[in-house]
Amino acid sequence: MTDLPPPPARGCREAPVLKERGQREVFCGLTGIIWLHRKMQDAFFLVVGSRTCAHLLQSAAGVMIFAEPRFGTAILEEKDLAGLADANAELDREVARLLERRPDIRQLFLVGSCPSEVIKLDLDRAAERLNVVHAPHVRVLSYTGAGTDTTFTQGEDSCLAAMVPTLPETTARELLLVGSLPDVVEDQALALLAALGIGPVRCLPARRAGEMPGVGPDTVFALVQPFLGETHGALVKRGARHVAAPFPFGEEGTTRWLRAIADEFGVSPETFEAATAAPRARARKAVAAHAEELRGKSIFFLPDSQLELPLARFLTRECGMTAVEVGTPYLHRDILGPDLDLLAEGPVISEGQDVDLQLDRVRAARPDLTVCGLGLANPLEAEGLATKWAIELVFSPVHFYEQAGDLAALFARPLTRRRILKLEAAE
Ligand code: SF4
Repeated sequence: MTDLPPPPARGCREAPVLKERGQREVFCGLTGIIWLHRKMQDAFFLVVGSRTCAHLLQSAAGVMIFAEPRFGTAILEEKDLAGLADANAELDREVARLLERRPDIRQLFLVGSCPSEVIKLDLDRAAERLNVVHAPHVRVLSYTGAGTDTTFTQGEDSCLAAMVPTLPETTARELLLVGSLPDVVEDQALALLAALGIGPVRCLPARRAGEMPGVGPDTVFALVQPFLGETHGALVKRGARHVAAPFPFGEEGTTRWLRAIADEFGVSPETFEAATAAPRARARKAVAAHAEELRGKSIFFLPDSQLELPLARFLTRECGMTAVEVGTPYLHRDILGPDLDLLAEGPVISEGQDVDLQLDRVRAARPDLTVCGLGLANPLEAEGLATKWAIELVFSPVHFYEQAGDLAALFARPLTRRRILKLEAAE
């Protein structure tokens, strides 16, 4: 890897972390259903929640209401919340009706919400009970997407972590890719790994219930998303070993991620070079096309998607940006350590949020670009600051070589728009 830029003399792994525990402005974990239901083609996500939860899903899912849905909400009515009805009996009836109507469902996730937690509805026990009735045709699992004290990407982590204990035991030496990616991007990753001669490769989540991977002491796993702390812990508990690496964002991130796996599987430098040279060159060229807009500009990340640190590494090292502050909801060093090593000392690294204090720092720094949640973007735009919605980074295909240019473009676009508007105003 001699042609990769060296790590900075001092990275951020040992940098002091500003920890804040105040009011937060984030979406809840139900949001993950929007991408998970597309990924797992025979799964159904049944949110046990209120009309508010149903509205969140409907509006976040947008056009998906025209498709045969793979998610829904079992509405807890006032009488459930007041303890006047047996919510468990109603849930059992709802599930029976759903499964009768939809024989294509092979995995059913009961997804907890704030209301189900308030009334202490035990969805783990409900899942156990329903499994007895509906197995083996349908496997019923539960996790929570409740909004208090979570981030929107935590829903996926909770979902995958709930699946890990149910995966079959294996003694095979396999690579497990962990984290959901759009199918086309996952296929690109699998093709790159195949070109390196690495296999067998399995994915969690699998596209179908019948394809779920096994896990055991000879499983090595690589994360494709940085927000999978609980899943990481569950896999380690099952004896699997994590291959720590920077996340595959941009040309450098993808190369280092692949190299870490290639080293684990004893791939020669020649084979690595042959498999990666062409896509690396494409990625470099695609990033360069947008880096001009980004070079020398400052960026401030508010904690939201948990992608902040790897993205700051990409933007500073591959696009020439300067990071003012990089906020993350949680700082999981086993997972983010390699990205912290590559992020040059300088930015404030913050964990958690006290939104008012953090907005004061944004206003004082007046960065060229602020990455934040939807609720904060409009007020900041009104104050003349360019923003990027963090959620867009999770909904868009941004991993690996072929998406590196698109990833840079996502950050360049608001700056280009602002520059053009300024030019027009000056004319
Ligand atoms: S924050 Fe709570 S009540 Fe609101 S949509 Fe999410 S789970 Fe439902």
